Amino acid sequence: MNWIQLFGLFYTFGTNQRLGMKYLLIGVLCLGIASCNSVSEKKKAKDEVAKVNKNRGEYNLAYRNIKNPDLKSTDLSPRTYSIIDVHEHLQTVEDAKRLLKAMDKLNITRCCLMASSYYTFTLNDKYGFERFKENNELLLQSRNSYPDRFSAFITIDPEDKDNLILVKDYVSRGADGIKLYLGHGAGTGKGPFHSMPLDDPRMLSIYEWAEKTQLPILFHVNLIKYYDEFIRVMDSYPLLKVCIPHFGLHKNTEKRLSRLASIFTRYPNVYTDISFGHEDFHIEGFETLSKWRTRSKEFVEKHADRIMFGTDMVLEKTKTIEYIENTLRSYMQWIEDKEFCFFYKPDYPMWGLSLSEESLRKIYQETAKKFLSMDDFGMLPDRIVRD
Ligand SMILES: [Zn+2]
Repeated sequence: MNWIQLFGLFYTFGTNQRLGMKYLLIGVLCLGIASCNSVSEKKKAKDEVAKVNKNRGEYNLAYRNIKNPDLKSTDLSPRTYSIIDVHEHLQTVEDAKRLLKAMDKLNITRCCLMASSYYTFTLNDKYGFERFKENNELLLQSRNSYPDRFSAFITIDPEDKDNLILVKDYVSRGADGIKLYLGHGAGTGKGPFHSMPLDDPRMLSIYEWAEKTQLPILFHVNLIKYYDEFIRVMDSYPLLKVCIPHFGLHKNTEKRLSRLASIFTRYPNVYTDISFGHEDFHIEGFETLSKWRTRSKEFVEKHADRIMFGTDMVLEKTKTIEYIENTLRSYMQWIEDKEFCFFYKPDYPMWGLSLSEESLRKIYQETAKKFLSMDDFGMLPDRIVRD
């Protein structure tokens, strides 16, 4: 019903009440139909929005709601920093070669390789925390073939006897750090990573020696599950050099970030990295931090002297050079750009953290130099095992 009809209705109502009553009934009927239509149209519009949101990640505010066809997932501003990457894994010499190629392209000068068990490479429940010594040797070999490009972080099974002797032997052969899975909440097919408390007596001699020699540990710790255990370790060895990767865990709620911040305040040698690892966690990690990007940016800028670059790729033969480049590049886009095309979800631009130059310099270089005890010439300490 439009304005002319409405005017006609009132006019008729004023001059002929019986006819007017008829018009009034018709009018009410029209209004009813019209409102039914608008309800179904509203529902249609809502469905359409839901469809769009679904495509860009279930109502996820990590993405813009306007497409930008000019953005490409391969876009990257010129590299101004040489980058130290503190967290990757690889299984073979071939993987090391592919990684080197991508490192050259993206100006990553050094990469810290983390030793892994066979389970980590296969994700097959058949395997437990096994064959890691094989990987330790491969990493030492890669590190000793390219001492300017790779650092090797060996791993141990906490249940093994004589682990300290083993660690000292690895260090004497070139290991630059230790990777520990003990604080990992999940497990392998055959058993949990968390096979004992982090402060179990069997682990203490390792911490003591690592603190004394300032040997860095990349320590996967679930800060929700094992917070108390971790604090007990740190209170006993407060100068231990530790990187807790992934901001303490993949799901980055404010509670977790503030827990991490309090650890930074309390212990001067604790660090984290920006890696999220496996595809699912990579998407989830970016989305969570980008969705709350003001808070995330504040946190990262405030603690940039404790935060390092890394992506936690687990390279084995199925991981192509394209995958490696896409992954490394996406982390750079994410911290540098205001918005970028995320290769896993390219339909809508994702919000980036667009960090300041000062924070980027720290995350790409300065913080890792401190973590690795690297001197101004890029040399790593020569840890001769004396005792
Ligand atoms: Zn890792």
